[in-house]
Amino acid sequence: MKNSATIIPVSSPECQVISWKSHLKSAFSDSEQLLRYLDIEPTAHRPSNLVQPSFPVRVPIPFADKMEKGNINDPLLLQVLARDIENAHIEGYSHDPLEEQNNNTPGLLHKYAGRVLLILTGSCAINCRYCFRRHFPYHQQLASGENLQKNLETIQKDPSITEVILSGGDPLLLSDKQLFEIISQLEAIPHLRRLRIHSRLPVVIPQRLTLQLQKLLSKNRLQTSLVIHANHGNEMDAELGHGLAALTRSSVSVFNQSVLLKNINDDPQILAELSEKLFEYQIIPYYIHRLDPVAGAAHFDISKKRASKIIRQLGQILPGYLLPKLVVEEPDKACKTIVL
Ligand code: SF4
Repeated sequence: MKNSATIIPVSSPECQVISWKSHLKSAFSDSEQLLRYLDIEPTAHRPSNLVQPSFPVRVPIPFADKMEKGNINDPLLLQVLARDIENAHIEGYSHDPLEEQNNNTPGLLHKYAGRVLLILTGSCAINCRYCFRRHFPYHQQLASGENLQKNLETIQKDPSITEVILSGGDPLLLSDKQLFEIISQLEAIPHLRRLRIHSRLPVVIPQRLTLQLQKLLSKNRLQTSLVIHANHGNEMDAELGHGLAALTRSSVSVFNQSVLLKNINDDPQILAELSEKLFEYQIIPYYIHRLDPVAGAAHFDISKKRASKIIRQLGQILPGYLLPKLVVEEPDKACKTIVL
């Protein structure tokens, strides 16, 4: 298998591009650097707002390039800028909002019937400040090495499991070779029918959508889907859209899920524009999640009443097939709850 760093993305057929791995290496890890890159003077913005948090800053340049220069309230910037408000203790917001951390099968989460989730890496290409796993002890909960083999045996022994979800962290941070090995092992389990990959990486670094990855996802026995994560229409651009459309043409289903975030996308017009941009590239708007109540992210939350109102208004703008379902995940439930 070729080294993916040298492969030309689906989305840029003719030019020399910076590889996705190079973009990962050069990502911003400091809010001040990011602000200067955006022509925003960090001292003009209240300096106390720029903290070096326990959940580090991580923002690759292709994502920063989708932000508006000079705009401290840019909706993409607000998703990734670490602020001191994250350190406030707010009742009802915990380190483990979905009660995943006491899981006794490290690397394997079996919450819903017929589906299991494999946690393949603890890293992401970007650190979203609202992330529900921002305090997750990945070092104890990874499906790698021995754990991965044990988890594959568990799946093999349980014929009720028909779908495997690769998650993280971001599973597309694995090399194509690593993904190939895992997918091959999953393909060999006869009762598995579907493979789903949850990743924000294509949105953050569209160059990850290489031809090699396209082949990997489209040429395996399992019905394969990719669930991307975009919250705002500004995250979608032609390079990303064409890369994803190429995947759908090769029979990989592509869905999007978002998180409803205060001051970022809590507006029916903004969400309508996102759905329309997604559909331009044949991506189905699937879920919009209410924020999981994770410590450090309370400032992104909006009330259930307001969330329902936004979705009702969105339903008046969009055709039904472009309307994402508003859902909330609750630790003790056998499925996501649809918020009406
Ligand atoms: S990409 Fe997903 S898992 Fe990673 S930090 Fe963002 S929300 Fe969390």
